Amino acid sequence: MLSNPSIHSKLPNVGTTIFTIMSSLANEYKAINLGQGFPDYPMNAELVELVNKAMKDGYNQYTHMCGLPALRERIAEKIEGLYTTKVDPETEITITPGGTYAIYTALTTVLQPGDEVIVFEPAYDSYIPNIEINGGVPVLIPLVHPEYRSDSYRIDWDLVRQKISPKTKLIMLNTPHNPTGAVLGAEDIKQLQHIVAGTDIFVLSDEVYEHLIFDNRKHESVLRYADLYQRSFVCFSFGKVYDCTGWKMGYCVAPPALMKEFRKVHQFNAFSCSTPVQYALAEFLPRKENYLQLGVFLQKKRDHFLGLMKQTRFEPLPSYGSYFQLYSYAAISDENEKDFAIRVTKECGVAGIPVSAFYKNGNDNKVLRFCFSKKEATLEEAAMRLKKL
Ligand code: GLN
Repeated sequence: MLSNPSIHSKLPNVGTTIFTIMSSLANEYKAINLGQGFPDYPMNAELVELVNKAMKDGYNQYTHMCGLPALRERIAEKIEGLYTTKVDPETEITITPGGTYAIYTALTTVLQPGDEVIVFEPAYDSYIPNIEINGGVPVLIPLVHPEYRSDSYRIDWDLVRQKISPKTKLIMLNTPHNPTGAVLGAEDIKQLQHIVAGTDIFVLSDEVYEHLIFDNRKHESVLRYADLYQRSFVCFSFGKVYDCTGWKMGYCVAPPALMKEFRKVHQFNAFSCSTPVQYALAEFLPRKENYLQLGVFLQKKRDHFLGLMKQTRFEPLPSYGSYFQLYSYAAISDENEKDFAIRVTKECGVAGIPVSAFYKNGNDNKVLRFCFSKKEATLEEAAMRLKKL
């Protein structure tokens, strides 16, 4: 007899990610895609050449499960140069197929059913499903919404203190922050240090936008702080650094005891990542200027788009980092964010991301996230189209 099995969903309340929804809609309506975060300009040609060369030279079989040793060594040198912390490439770095995979793996490594995880909202859309699929319980803390044109979103640390419980297993951080463009400051780090001191709480720090930081702000990596790093998984992305989001390459840094468990999970999932890409990155990473100038490069794009958007009725909220800036459309429409984003894609030909997608309960503040890591001409055409609203 034929049986017809049905799945008892592990993620019953989850649909398709907003990035896929908006990119598909943008393609369908031939809209300018300022939704999903990726550059529309070409990546570095030398790095492409290095991958080609590695392939031609025959580096096409599995590399080490933890990542090509030479690449891990170059990453350790980079970390020491930027954040003054010495990490052991042998025991503290694992190359992963992307930053999101590193985050998922870290959560899977740490969480037991019923463990609570502090998540600040708006939160990148993979965090909460990643926690829930591992039996964890997200404890949601709203970031303090800024007054327009003044400060950016920030963490209310008193609220964090109130939400900590004996079940708190981990705190998730993201700086520079997707989607708001907020960045953590020295005072935030002090508060965090104080809260976790003497506890068994882990920290997962999503730092994929480490170099995409503006206005002379400093990237407060948890790697700078030994007391925080000893309890942390720190996740990075090559895609954001080298304009190649489609390569899906990243890495996780964690102290040896934590990384040992992380690798147990990783080895039976992806096992290892693209070998030729790792050879190329190992050679390219020491060319520091490629990442050191990124903040200035993207700040110009942010400012160019800001200038262009003055001709529209959108109101910017401050962005100090990432690929993104939030724009309020309260003066244009009282539609909800998702309906508005869909209508603007279809009718104006510009796709953005409704920020409500970054809240578990769909909190709606009449803001869209626009990605400005685009060619000048793309930003100019997008702003022209948005003027119609
Ligand atoms: N990180 C990208 C963004 O925020 C999207 C990545 C994805 O589509 N999964 O736009």
